[in-house]
Amino acid sequence: MNDKPEHFIIDGKRLDGRNLDELRPIKIEMSPLDRADGSCYLEWGNNKIMAAVYGPRELHPRHRQNMTRSVVQYRYNMASFSVDERIRPGPSRRSVEISKVSREAFEPVVFTKFFPRTAIDVFIEVLQADAGTRTAGINAASLALADAGIPMRGLVSACAVGKVDGRIVLDLMKEEDNYGEADMPVAMIAGGRITLLQMDGRLTTEEFYEALKLAKTGCDKVYELQRQALLEKYGGEHPVDAEDVSLEGDTDEQ
Ligand code: UDP
Repeated sequence: MNDKPEHFIIDGKRLDGRNLDELRPIKIEMSPLDRADGSCYLEWGNNKIMAAVYGPRELHPRHRQNMTRSVVQYRYNMASFSVDERIRPGPSRRSVEISKVSREAFEPVVFTKFFPRTAIDVFIEVLQADAGTRTAGINAASLALADAGIPMRGLVSACAVGKVDGRIVLDLMKEEDNYGEADMPVAMIAGGRITLLQMDGRLTTEEFYEALKLAKTGCDKVYELQRQALLEKYGGEHPVDAEDVSLEGDTDEQ
């Protein structure tokens, strides 16, 4: 692990050159996996995340089935090689917690009542981690769910905010996350309804509201990128060119 930097903000810029309210670059690739019903690969700064969605499919064991709705299952996993110090394979307290809160971030969004007795399985594999992996996973999961055709109230968009050198900053990278004064991951549906909010560290009430406001602007930017990715994949495939549309044939047939 790197040592704690003396300062996180120098001349108004952060250690990686970003402004306080700037996100790391985000790259999205839709449907990279052939076998999954929906998938998304997302890079966010130095984070590399794969999301795969299977379902709705019959849930086994059967006693876990719900007669009135689908059960959303979410597994967040960090690859052993995703960080400097090898991670022991298998679930850990941290990965179980992240899986739980991430699943809950989608609970108010997915129309589970349409698919009784089934499971919708979301798998998140963190291939490379650099802080913010739970929020990156949620953003990728949101797109993979849409890619699988799962009906949802909207996309869930997530980002972390925090406090370093006494200032509120958007989208913490690893040094800021590990040594900063506070870290607050947030997920929301477009429009601002919050579906995940966690906090590590301390903020005053004013700082909390400032951080929440900044998280909203971050989530709005993420949402725009998610929307673009979906439009590129699904929106522009068969553009209707006005000059190709002739009404004459229709009239003749009537
Ligand atoms: N991390 C690590 N080893 C671990 C867990 C986390 O090196 O066992 C690093 C990793 O880069 C991760 C960061 O610490 O992204 C912050 O972890 P946190 O638990 O805050 O979750 P995240 O910010 O990734 O959602």
